[in-house]
Amino acid sequence: MNRQITLAARPVGYPQESDFALVETPVPEPGPGQVLVRSQWLSLDPYMRGRMSTTRSYAKATEIGDVMTGQVVGEVVESHDGRFSPGDLVVGQLGWQEYAVARGGALRKIDPRVAPPQAWLHVLGATGLTAYFGLFDVGRPSPGDTVVVSGAAGAVGQITGQLARIAGCRTVGIAGGPEKVADLTEEYGYDAGIDYKADDVNARLKELCPHGVDLYFDNVGGALSETVFRRLALGARIVICGQISQYNLTEPELAPRHLGFLIVFRARMQGFLVSDYAHRFDQAIRRLATLLGEGRLRYREDVTDGLEHAPEAFIGMLNGANRGKTLVKLT
Ligand code: NDP
Repeated sequence: MNRQITLAARPVGYPQESDFALVETPVPEPGPGQVLVRSQWLSLDPYMRGRMSTTRSYAKATEIGDVMTGQVVGEVVESHDGRFSPGDLVVGQLGWQEYAVARGGALRKIDPRVAPPQAWLHVLGATGLTAYFGLFDVGRPSPGDTVVVSGAAGAVGQITGQLARIAGCRTVGIAGGPEKVADLTEEYGYDAGIDYKADDVNARLKELCPHGVDLYFDNVGGALSETVFRRLALGARIVICGQISQYNLTEPELAPRHLGFLIVFRARMQGFLVSDYAHRFDQAIRRLATLLGEGRLRYREDVTDGLEHAPEAFIGMLNGANRGKTLVKLT
């Protein structure tokens, strides 16, 4: 049988476990040109919260009763596409389920000799690529820049800080709680960390970024970002990667209130979507793999065992319970 997690109800505010259902269906049969994949690892990401809602977005909402969307690393079991053979490891948007069929064109082979299979969901997958393109293409850092990252101890944030440091920048990370803030400097090479739950963020930024913030890589949004806007440097760039502080609100916040600082500092703010860079993924993965091979990129995984625990792990991640990239091990 194929176990799947489907969307049972549209969440109001933070998702609850009752918004998900665990169902069993027969293992699907691959048709012509299709490949049957047994999932090994599932990536849990904040964007999935958006798919659970019908709010206007860049992608279609998941329908009630449909399998939750998600990227998976798995093993080819049966292939009707000459490019894939049983035993190959692939990555694809296969959803929260143990088996899936997909067109060969929707799958990408991965090489477990370069990095463990699950790393192709984070440092060598969408997470690392988000950090890479957001930082380099949108943020355009220069050596000596002061780069501030919110959500800095999370999956994207931990890679962003390290890439900025490799690019010769001073890095300041903002995260929630003493353990994550310790990880920023001890694990991910940030020059300094700020605990947004305990510190006076404005005062700490003033102290840590005396010449202002040249590049703000924003994963969080809301009041935290407004505080950073006050401390920008002239010509600052603001990369809007995510706005996780807003994803579970039932009413929009009465913000932003500090956009005037973008005038004061002649700052540029730009959002981006990692999928727009698909044509350049191979080149970026090669660069990330080289850095990984040279021991210059570190990462932490937060692994939950078993598909049935995916909803709990997802809700935990939205609440900050994850320490590193949130993954579910399926086999
Ligand atoms: P993370 O591993 O960073 O996990 C989410 C983290 O968000 C939590 O651990 C928590 O960290 C933090 N968080 C949750 N609520 C709040 C809040 N109210 N205020 C401040 N921090 C909060 O997830 P990812 O690295 O996968 O994703 C990070 C961001 O990147 C998300 O906003 C996501 O939407 C975005 N993203 C954007 C992409 C794009 O193409 N633009 C692609 C991929 C991701 P803490 O304990 O520190 O509060």
